[in-house]
Amino acid sequence: MSEFAFELELCAALEDGEYGDSVVARQLGGSVADPGGRILDIVCVESGPEFADRVAITGETIPGAAIESAIGTGRARFWKDAFDCHTERARRIVERACEIGFFARERRGGRDYVRQVARYPDWYGRIVGIENKPDLGTPGDLEAQLRTDASLGLVDEAILATESYVTRAHLNRIPEVIGVWRFFPESGDLEVIREPTPLPVSEPGIELLAEHPGRTEIAVVSAAEKARARRRLAERAYGKGWRTYAFPDCGACEPTTDRDETLPYCTWKECVVDPASECGAACGGFEAVETPDIDLEAERERRTSWVADPGGARRQSGLDRFL
Ligand code: SF4
Repeated sequence: MSEFAFELELCAALEDGEYGDSVVARQLGGSVADPGGRILDIVCVESGPEFADRVAITGETIPGAAIESAIGTGRARFWKDAFDCHTERARRIVERACEIGFFARERRGGRDYVRQVARYPDWYGRIVGIENKPDLGTPGDLEAQLRTDASLGLVDEAILATESYVTRAHLNRIPEVIGVWRFFPESGDLEVIREPTPLPVSEPGIELLAEHPGRTEIAVVSAAEKARARRRLAERAYGKGWRTYAFPDCGACEPTTDRDETLPYCTWKECVVDPASECGAACGGFEAVETPDIDLEAERERRTSWVADPGGARRQSGLDRFL
């Protein structure tokens, strides 16, 4: 089974089980000093006390710069006065925040004034990062990735998920604080081999940037930078989720609904496939058909608390509070 298929099956199982009340997402940046330097395969964001308030704002990711700006919920401010960045960038952030319903705009004297439609809520709790390595026989950069997660402490818990039999030697090669799961995609069963140790998310962390023979480049990341990065990570997870795949225009693909999840299952390969890299006319089993019309957003809404476009009455009532 490919890493892609393993990842989708694990996301489906987590959403069905232990993380049913959490936001499950995949392929999100998990570094701070070197954005994009570490990508977390799966991120589970547990809901906090004001989760319902977050759901009521927007189904999209709220830009971190909009949350961190001087735009509040009280009186509307001239947008240019509220940002500490280039005007063009500030303009893009304001446009996006208005488009998704986080900011409301008023025109006064030919100028745009904006305010938040609702206070940014305390909506998330613990964040769990999961690294997928179905086959421990081909570990790649696994050890360095897990050492980064352990020393940076951006997520509350970091876990390695594999389908392989886990030996003592495997466990000895990865940091002790990293949890280890054995996951069986066919059945959806999950066996905890080692519990993760909570990471010190509210303390400064060390990010590994690069390793050279006899020398490692690092960056010290402050507690405040980590807190900001955690909020951005939680926001991206909320907006993105894990159903970010397409279905091929091939008759051999029969979206599987084993656990009431729609995954790109290929009857020719007899497994879940990654349409972006595996499908097309060059594949031996390809039979051209119309691209199936599958609404994965609707599935996410049906199976989780996420709402694509809360808008309407709820957003209006949020606005009324501040008029
Ligand atoms: S293109 Fe190939 S891998 Fe993709 S669904 Fe069709 S037969 Fe399967």
